[in-house]
Amino acid sequence: NTIYIGANPIENPPVELLTQNKESINEYYDSMQEDTTTLNEAKIIFVGDGSVGKTSLMKRLINNSFNIEEEQTDGIDIQSYDIFLKCGSKINASIWDFGGQQILQATHQLFLSKRSIYVLVIEDRKNDLHKDHDIDKWLTQINSLGGNPSILIVKNKTDENPNSDIQKNKLQNKFKNIDSFHEISCKTNKGVKKLKSALDNAIINLPMRKIELPINWINVKNDLKLKSDKDDLLYLNTYDDICTKHDIKSNIAKTTLLHLLHDLGSVIAFEELSSHNTAILNPHWITEGIYALIRSNTLIINNGIITIKQAQKALDSYVDHLRFTKKAQYILDAMITFNLCHRTSNNDEFLIPILL
Ligand code: GDP
Ligand code: MG
Repeated sequence: NTIYIGANPIENPPVELLTQNKESINEYYDSMQEDTTTLNEAKIIFVGDGSVGKTSLMKRLINNSFNIEEEQTDGIDIQSYDIFLKCGSKINASIWDFGGQQILQATHQLFLSKRSIYVLVIEDRKNDLHKDHDIDKWLTQINSLGGNPSILIVKNKTDENPNSDIQKNKLQNKFKNIDSFHEISCKTNKGVKKLKSALDNAIINLPMRKIELPINWINVKNDLKLKSDKDDLLYLNTYDDICTKHDIKSNIAKTTLLHLLHDLGSVIAFEELSSHNTAILNPHWITEGIYALIRSNTLIINNGIITIKQAQKALDSYVDHLRFTKKAQYILDAMITFNLCHRTSNNDEFLIPILL
C-alpha cells in the first residue's frame, strides 16, 4: 500500500495527496504517462527601481547592445534567453523586465513567483543615504513569497561611480539566498561577462528546470502556449478539456499542474480568484487592465473611488475594448488580492488608493 514518492515527477508531492483515499491516489498516478522529459524552463525576474539599468542589462545579456537613451519600459517586457547545455539540450529561459514608474510597481507583484531567479539591479548613487534600506526592501519582498529563490545583486553604472560600500556580509547574513554580488557597467560592458556566467549557472542549477515531467503534462503546457498566441484568458473548463484530451483526469493532478504552470509564468492562476473560474494566459492583459483603471479619468475626478460600471467603461474605452468585456469585477478582484484596491462599505464602489 505504500506510495513510492520517488516516482513522483514533482519534487515535493502535492500535500493534497496525503489526505486522499486510495482511488484518488491511483487516479493521480494514472494521469502521468511513463515517458518523462526534463522541464528545462526558467523564469528570470529583473527587479529594482526605475532607471537603474534593468532594460539596459537585459539588452547587454541578450544581444550585447547599449543605448544611452534607453526609453522607460511600459508594463512588462518578456524576452527569451535560451541556454545550450553541453549535452546538447536547451533551457528555455525568459527574462521578465518591468516598467519602473513608482505607481505601477505594485502591479508587478502579480508576476513574482517563488521558483524563479531574481536579479536585483541597483544604482550606487553618491550621497544616497537610503540605498541599504532599498536593497533590504527588495530582498524582503522577494523572500516574502517563500521558496528562498536565488538572488543576484547587481550594482550598475560603475562607470559613473566606481566606489562601492554595499555591506555584502551583512546582507548575506540576513538573506541566505543571495547567490552573488556584481559590479557592472552596461555602458562599458565591464563585469557583464562574469555576471552572465553566474546567471547561466543559476539557471542550470535551478531546481524547477530540472523537474522530470510526464510527456502528457508537457503536452498540456505546449497546448496552452499555442493557445496564448490568440487568447488572453484561460477558462478553467477549457483547461479541464485540455487535460482530459491528454489523459489527465485526476483533479489533484490538474491542480498540481496548474500551480506549476503558474510558477513558470505560463498562466496566471491565483487561488484567490478561483471563484471566477478564469486564469490569465497573456500577462499584458492584466497589466493593461489595471493600468486602464489606475489611469482612468473617473478615478482622478472621484478621488480614487470607482464603481463597477465606471470601471467597465474605463476598460471598454481602453485600446482594444473587446478584450475586457465583462471583466471589471475580475480585474478589481485581482487588484484586491494585492492590496491595490479595497472594497468600500458600498458594495458597488471600490477605492483604488494608488494615486492618493
Ligand atoms: P530601467 O528603468 O531600470 O530599465 O533603466 P534603463 O535600462 O532604461 O536605463 C536608464 C538610463 O540609464 C538610460 O538612459 C541608460 O542608457 C542609462 N544607463 C544604463 N546603464 C548604464 C551604465 O552602466 N552607465 C551609464 N552611465 N548609464 C547607464
Ligand atoms: Mg526599463
